[in-house]
Amino acid sequence: MVDTYYQKGFKLVCLTEHMPRLNNRFLYPEEIEKSYTITNLNQDFENYLNHAKELQKKYEGKMRIVIGFEVEAINKEHIQFAKELASKFELMIGSIHFVKEIPIDFDKESWNKARDSLGSQRLLFKEYFKLQQQLIIELKPKVIGHFDLIRLFQDEDVDLKTWPEVGQRLILKAI
Ligand SMILES: [Zn+2]
Repeated sequence: MVDTYYQKGFKLVCLTEHMPRLNNRFLYPEEIEKSYTITNLNQDFENYLNHAKELQKKYEGKMRIVIGFEVEAINKEHIQFAKELASKFELMIGSIHFVKEIPIDFDKESWNKARDSLGSQRLLFKEYFKLQQQLIIELKPKVIGHFDLIRLFQDEDVDLKTWPEVGQRLILKAI
């Protein structure tokens, strides 16, 4: 993949991988099927970092490779872990994939579970953007990942202007 970027004349490429989750209860069904544990996630992440460093050396002087990671801001512990990782990486992508510690990007069933834990799509959206806001304030990532991921399995398409308490969460004043 990296070589294709180089062949196509790119001068700058950023690689990212999701940071490992901290507890087996946050594994996705497809990972459980493969008998994955967080040990595998940690190993994959380490392999990613080592491989990315090798590529950085290989392309030195030809194409700049930025090594980044994508945040899993599941809860306070994960945000703290992301803070620690941030010092070791050039770029962090701030992403939310879980609401109320339930994945909202895997399938409709899990999305519904997250919705039902809050009571409605409206409350789920509000919570998702609240988490996004907290992530931005605490981690100050330069890039936000898939800002509207919560819409992936939504029940109905909603103009957020009609849900002002949700819309407000999309506006961040300078801090
Ligand atoms: Zn993501």
